[in-house]
Amino acid sequence: MTTATKAEVWQWLDAVMDPEVPVVSVVDLGIVREVSVQGVEVEVVVTPTYSGCPATEVIANDITQALQQHGLQAKIRTQIAPPWTSDWMSQRGREALRAYGIAPPAHLSHDTVVHLQKPGAAVACPLCNSAHTRLISQFGSTACKALYRCNSCLEPFDYFKPH
Ligand SMILES: [Zn+2]
Repeated sequence: MTTATKAEVWQWLDAVMDPEVPVVSVVDLGIVREVSVQGVEVEVVVTPTYSGCPATEVIANDITQALQQHGLQAKIRTQIAPPWTSDWMSQRGREALRAYGIAPPAHLSHDTVVHLQKPGAAVACPLCNSAHTRLISQFGSTACKALYRCNSCLEPFDYFKPH
């Protein structure tokens, strides 16, 4: 009979990538809220980034499969309150996003300056770090992102909208 520690489960979950942003794990994204291990059963509490986001089902599946590889049975519990906020995304997740060419979300709780300005005013280009960017569309490649263009390097990029 396989048993695993909580730390091991977190580590394995850290290898499960978000289907929409394949460089950020579900742990770094901050959607895995809690893990409890009982023998071969692992309960994973997941808070989806957007309710009704089609990725949620994919994520539940991926988590189940990842734990199955270690002989564990996953029980996914979806928790919608408190709602997910982009503030839960880890620093590592934000850096991975930027390296992938997506501007990471501003901190809602800390970056009040960003928050008070017009939407998009302070989104830095993930490619050249220029602050001279403009919003092209509220919806980028997915509903969770907005499309921007950089006025310095002229490249379009996605901005992961904070919420
Ligand atoms: Zn740029």
